Amino acid sequence: MTATDTDRPPFLPLTSLDTLWFQVAGTLCNLRCNHCFISCSPQNHTLGLMKFEQFKPHLDEAVQYGVKEFYFTGGEPFINPEIFEILEATLAVGPATVLTNATRFTEEKIARLAGMRDASEYSLELRVSIDGFSPETNDPIRGPGTFVQAMNGVRMLVAAGFLPIITSMRSWEIHQDDEFLREFKARLAEIGYTRPRMKLLPSLKIGQEAKRDHGYGKYEFVTEAMMVGYDETQLLCHNSRVVSDRGVHVCPILVDKPDAKLGVTLRDSLNGYRLRHQACITCYRFGALCSNAGSLEGNRLARSGSEANPALGTTPTQN
Ligand code: SF4
Ligand code: SF4
Repeated sequence: MTATDTDRPPFLPLTSLDTLWFQVAGTLCNLRCNHCFISCSPQNHTLGLMKFEQFKPHLDEAVQYGVKEFYFTGGEPFINPEIFEILEATLAVGPATVLTNATRFTEEKIARLAGMRDASEYSLELRVSIDGFSPETNDPIRGPGTFVQAMNGVRMLVAAGFLPIITSMRSWEIHQDDEFLREFKARLAEIGYTRPRMKLLPSLKIGQEAKRDHGYGKYEFVTEAMMVGYDETQLLCHNSRVVSDRGVHVCPILVDKPDAKLGVTLRDSLNGYRLRHQACITCYRFGALCSNAGSLEGNRLARSGSEANPALGTTPTQN
């Protein structure tokens, strides 16, 4: 291998298809957060809402491939008018996790979710994005009033017996993690959520986040040489794919990038992908433990998502 070869972006094969994401809300969201790495908003129609009739053939194909778990994201999944039918169909065949901003919940919607959860032999998880422990720390990122709305959503979920995973993108220095978690857990306890499950996420320097903070540096990308001795199973794209209303893409992070669309069916997407985008460096550094298992549970304080402890890191996904 020459030096030039080792500078190339590495090709990552799909080793198995264990996890399937559905971009059920496309790039549409009721919010327009200034850190959103696919720049979702009420007006971003790059990817649209998935209709049930678009979703179901992919679910059926996923079952044939032995997919073990399903994630739903956007945009905001609960702006999709068919989200409940989509979740019901999913919970008949496997566990489901929905990533939400929790600003659209009502008592009726939560009761419906609880009914689905109780009727299924598989789990239904909710992941709620809140980026600060107060209106002063959250709302400048997610919009006016969103802290109160999201915490009210969490309160209703907890009252219905859910244990939502609270996710926050780190917009502070790593050494402030413990302080952030301590403050946030105190606020969650006030609404009845003791021993909360929490995830801290590194930021992806693309989309709106590249404008809010900064983009990647010139030399921040993954090379073939960097993959020598690296555990590829840390990367989300080694065992998962994402489906949108436009087809099948390599991962939720690159879902709006034209070259990340791999085809129309899951079968089209089984060949692997060359990690040519700079966002791949964030996965490389932090691991892509996008599954729910990476959350901090109970009262344990740890540096999730930090370079100091990459085993606890997670690759951020919307919502
Ligand atoms: S952004 Fe992450 S999950 Fe997506 S292709 Fe790159 S390494 Fe894989
Ligand atoms: S970060 Fe989530 S809630 Fe905010 S605009 Fe993006 S998809 Fe919507």
